[in-house]
Amino acid sequence: MIEGEGESEMEIKITKAPEGHMPRPESDDKLGFGKYFTDHMFMMNYHSDKGWYDPRIVPYGPIELDPAAVVLHYGQQVFEGAKAYRGKDGGIYLFRTENNLERLNRSTARLCMPQVPVDFFLEAHKKLILLDKDWIPHKEGCSLYIRPTMIATEAFLGVKPAKEYLFYTIIGPVGAYYPEGFKPTKMFVSTEHVRAVRGGVGETKTGGNYAASLFAAEAATKKGFTQVLWLDAIEKKYVEEVGTSNIFFLFEDELATPPLGGTILPGITRDSVLELARKWGLKVSERPISMDEVIEALATGTLKEVFGTGTAAVISPVGSFSYMGKEYVVAGGRTGELSKKFYDTLTGIQYGELEDPFGWVHRIG
Ligand SMILES: *Cc1c(COP(=O)(O)O)cnc(C)c1O
Repeated sequence: MIEGEGESEMEIKITKAPEGHMPRPESDDKLGFGKYFTDHMFMMNYHSDKGWYDPRIVPYGPIELDPAAVVLHYGQQVFEGAKAYRGKDGGIYLFRTENNLERLNRSTARLCMPQVPVDFFLEAHKKLILLDKDWIPHKEGCSLYIRPTMIATEAFLGVKPAKEYLFYTIIGPVGAYYPEGFKPTKMFVSTEHVRAVRGGVGETKTGGNYAASLFAAEAATKKGFTQVLWLDAIEKKYVEEVGTSNIFFLFEDELATPPLGGTILPGITRDSVLELARKWGLKVSERPISMDEVIEALATGTLKEVFGTGTAAVISPVGSFSYMGKEYVVAGGRTGELSKKFYDTLTGIQYGELEDPFGWVHRIG
């Protein structure tokens, strides 16, 4: 509902924050993840009668919601996660952000929320990032995290789609995921709890999926594991994904990852790894991978590497996993060669240092 007079005429109103509005990190070494936010945010409202309206960039700050707002009761909400990078050449780069907005639209469709106009929103995000561009870290491996969010703001109690929504994007500097080099993760394979079922909302980035994952993740953390590896909800036999990452297995010369069947988040990093692997001429499969197969391949030595993929860590090598009370070590607990090659290549492309034959990267400033 963005068609008509609106779009071309819609101007993004900018209200500048006062100098020093938001606390700055002391140094790029102390960034961590999700702790700092820049001076400004992008916002826009939606009403089913008039479509999207009032696009604006305003000082970062609290938002006011009616206590009956639908999002607070029934969780009608979706979000995205993308990054902007500062290259060594001083350029500011976006990586596949249009794909994030397209995925956002698939999530909103599933949750009966409105579509966003991708081109207009992409321009709005560029404006926001360029306005706060001095927040983009200089240090290698650091970047600017971009968190678009849409919430149902209409005030009523009742399980039906809201007529009013707020879209907002906050951005903030984030640190290198592995400041001291890769640290392979320790996975806990959950056989008790599940993340998503076919026909559900597992393939959307909606808050409820993450709330539902907390219990198993907390139990795993208490036992000393870094992440939960989820299995399919029906047979509890096939690998699905990890926390906020997709997962890949290198069996001899076959790079395999679970297929997108509605329960798995269609990761943009996952897709990038698949494209790169195909370009490199690797044997690539998207197919069901059972825990039985994984354990068998570990026993016979044919499982060479396991790694997760996601915007936050790019590539996260898996060092070991615990399954049905047993510990299994992968690749001697070290980072595999192929994992490293994917990491170096993807980050090289993201920072504008390597050639990008895929058209993934856009220099915006
Ligand atoms: C975001 C996310 C991913 C990774 O997606 P990217 O687009 O690569 O960042 C994988 N799994 C889940 C559950 C996620 O939320």
